[in-house]
Amino acid sequence: MEIAIIAHDGKKTEMVQFLNEHRSILEQKQITLVSTGTTGKKVRKAGFEVTRLLSGPLGGDAQIAARVAEGKCQMVLFFRDPLEKHPHEPDVLMLMRLCDVHDVPLATNPATANLLMKGL
Ligand code: PGA
Repeated sequence: MEIAIIAHDGKKTEMVQFLNEHRSILEQKQITLVSTGTTGKKVRKAGFEVTRLLSGPLGGDAQIAARVAEGKCQMVLFFRDPLEKHPHEPDVLMLMRLCDVHDVPLATNPATANLLMKGL
């Protein structure tokens, strides 16, 4: 199962913390992680194996949206920062829309992501 992880700058620390808290379930279920560029860099530093795509503003969210549309990615954990403006907001909306189109579970905050992990 492939899970995409994305975190806006203000949420990257929380993403690493979240993954550390769920490390055993991720390993147990043989989850493959894919991420946007900078998020992936931080996650890798924390010792996780992750396929890094482009940075979000350069098209990374769009690449993940394509993986969702193609049926390659089965869950998206996207820790958004609602207090910041993002130049790639259209890509973010596209990603969320495609998760809904293809009925792929999408968490936009850690509380929801926690619940999704319990459902694995
Ligand atoms: P980043 O992209 O991981 O490259 O920072 C995330 C985003 O802003 O969508």
